[in-house]
Amino acid sequence: MTEFDDLLEANRAFAADFSLGGFDGVAHAGVAIVTCMDSRIDPLRMLGLRHGDAKIFRNPGGRVTDQALEALVLGVHLLGVTRVLVIPHTRCAMAASTEDELRERVGASAGQDASWQHFHVIADQRAALADDVARVRAHPLVPDTVAVGGFLYDVDTGLLSQEV
Ligand SMILES: [Zn+2]
Repeated sequence: MTEFDDLLEANRAFAADFSLGGFDGVAHAGVAIVTCMDSRIDPLRMLGLRHGDAKIFRNPGGRVTDQALEALVLGVHLLGVTRVLVIPHTRCAMAASTEDELRERVGASAGQDASWQHFHVIADQRAALADDVARVRAHPLVPDTVAVGGFLYDVDTGLLSQEV
């Protein structure tokens, strides 16, 4: 018995009627998504996409980090990406807390000092989104033929609104 038994059992059921073997790694809808790790976000379903359709990069806050850019460059040049969506969301902890608050809460949970841990909090979500979209558009290896948009996902209505 391990903490992972339920998940492995579910995986065996998943694999029992698995029909996706031999599938390529291309983004079949030409889509790449940068979004938050938040469990309220179902990136494929919220865009009407399916398995194989999109490249998805997630982190706290849904920020365009250096590694996100690395993923997007690979997506654009090697994996069929022609549309990039940057999607932060409402009620995101990374935008609703200060770094000190997060350090305090994590420290309380850990029972030890967490003041050294860096948390990339977001002071102004819309400004950060504009910066992130500009960062993708300005990347020398992301050609102008790639559409790049910034959207806010409302976790209470399920709706996306284009901001940038
Ligand atoms: Zn979030």
